[in-house]
Amino acid sequence: MKQEMKLEIDSIPSNESFARVVVAAFLTRLNPTMEEVADIKTAISEAVTNAIIHGYRQEVHKIVIEAAIEEDILEVSVQDFGVGIEDVKKAMEPLYTTRRDLERSGMGFVFMEAFMDTIKVESKVGEGTKVTMTKRVGKRYGRDF
Ligand code: ATP
Ligand code: MG
Repeated sequence: MKQEMKLEIDSIPSNESFARVVVAAFLTRLNPTMEEVADIKTAISEAVTNAIIHGYRQEVHKIVIEAAIEEDILEVSVQDFGVGIEDVKKAMEPLYTTRRDLERSGMGFVFMEAFMDTIKVESKVGEGTKVTMTKRVGKRYGRDF
């Protein structure tokens, strides 16, 4: 059976850790390894930080985080209704950042790609951005679902 959760939070910095802890708690039912938990937390932090600083330019609005578990796959999305991304392909290139002034390094998407199995970025200028990622969890145990 597919299991789902949905979380709506304000785009304030303290909610970055809140979001990753909530998803990590949801994930425990898959018996993840410490490494898998750490990878998923990092990916969520990067996506939520992006929604806060880029999507909403540090104004406070809502971020929606949805997660679903089906068999041994976690799917998680982070969505904002902010400025959107003009060129997603370019935004995802290593070291590409529009906020050098905030000392961003342009590595957020690179980490999300590295730590998760798949990543999909849907974005429309003026409407917002939704980043959806999946990861197979608990594979080390070779469990049979
Ligand atoms: P870092 O994550 O290393 O601190 P960064 O946030 O600039 O730096 P990425 O996370 O890879 O790097 O994002 C690359 C660029 O994509 C950002 O600089 C920004 O222009 C754009 N971007 C990413 N997420 C969003 C978003 N939710 N809304 C609008 N623009 C975004
Ligand atoms: Mg980033």
